[in-house]
Amino acid sequence: MVAQKHDSLEKIEAEVRGCPLCKLARTRKNAVPGEGQLSAKIMFIGEAPGRSEDEKGRPFVGAAGRILDNLLEKAGIERSQVFITNVVKCRPPDNRVPEEDEAAACRPYLDRQIGLIRPKVICILGRTAYTSLLGGSSITANRGKIVEKAGQKYFLTFHPAAAIYNKSLLSALEADLKELAKEMKNEGKSSMEDYL
Ligand code: SF4
Repeated sequence: MVAQKHDSLEKIEAEVRGCPLCKLARTRKNAVPGEGQLSAKIMFIGEAPGRSEDEKGRPFVGAAGRILDNLLEKAGIERSQVFITNVVKCRPPDNRVPEEDEAAACRPYLDRQIGLIRPKVICILGRTAYTSLLGGSSITANRGKIVEKAGQKYFLTFHPAAAIYNKSLLSALEADLKELAKEMKNEGKSSMEDYL
């Protein structure tokens, strides 16, 4: 993805916070553009903001966020040094899966973020992001894999929220994020710090 001249993460954030482009604008409290560094080498993309995220306007700050924080720490990845966002930037009512028209309306924001950050790896969290970005359907069958599409690498794993209801997924998620950290190290640098 090629970034437009004069675009910036701040500009996207301001547009998202006031965005009227799909019906989720009518029910959200706060849009959640995403957060992290322009220089991030890993970008995490989940499904949509939940209740806590909608309250605070920040991504992954509820129960799933705590799981993600813990997993990142165990993998030696600093949350402050990655970029985290979602397929749609506003909370769907009752946390339902975003509808196709909502994901389509929101997609240009995500594409612009990816174009600006140009991450080495995009870590797909869960099925909605997998379907939306790569047209895939089964995360269970493909988790832990790296997929390359149009010159962009993607790493596939479960959404951390899935581990709230199914604790057995925690160890899989932990193994996957450690694998992701290892993959980043294997790109020829001596330490994770060089990438983050
Ligand atoms: S989900 Fe995306 S397209 Fe829809 S209102 Fe929010 S920011 Fe706009």
